[in-house]
Amino acid sequence: ERGGQALDRLIVDVADYPQPGIVFKDITPVLADHDALVAVVGGLATAGRDADGAVHVDKVVGMEARGFILGPPVALDLGVGFVPVRKAGKLPREAHAVTYALEYGEATLELHRDAVRPGERVLLVDDVLATGGTAAATRDLVERCGGVVVAVAVLLELTFLPGRDAVAGVPVTALRPV
Ligand code: IMP
Repeated sequence: ERGGQALDRLIVDVADYPQPGIVFKDITPVLADHDALVAVVGGLATAGRDADGAVHVDKVVGMEARGFILGPPVALDLGVGFVPVRKAGKLPREAHAVTYALEYGEATLELHRDAVRPGERVLLVDDVLATGGTAAATRDLVERCGGVVVAVAVLLELTFLPGRDAVAGVPVTALRPV
């Protein structure tokens, strides 16, 4: 469809970034284009509504760093709050921490313990779903707080990777599968 093609033109492939052999998808031109930004925020927000349009989430959780850009406007669209998941050592108060494997090495993500309340329903928002490691670790963090991840929404899904399997049982909305 035309909207999708317009979006695809604003997603730039950067070869050998951040290391040789990796093709990095740069979504910053999408953010710079007002029409595209409106379409993306609206598209991501549909993951937080049921078929009747009723909002079925209590919080949007976004992962550092591009989840911090896309998450808050989605939360505003849905009429709910936004909660950041940060890389290790950045949150000032008591936090849960989850360490997960990367292709080389590992990474730790953290979430304030009181940021998600027991029983709250959460929509995860990020720019790219690749291996799903980030989304799975974030789901663990939300569950440590007693919350439940009911949906994942991303701009781009790298469909040659098993990212969806990493969040099995949770519906994934990807605006552009590549
Ligand atoms: P995953 O944990 O392997 O699913 O990787 C997803 C995380 O890495 C997200 O937070 C993305 O922001 C980031 N990421 C991975 N690949 C890309 C890319 O090609 N472009 C932008 N971000 C990426």
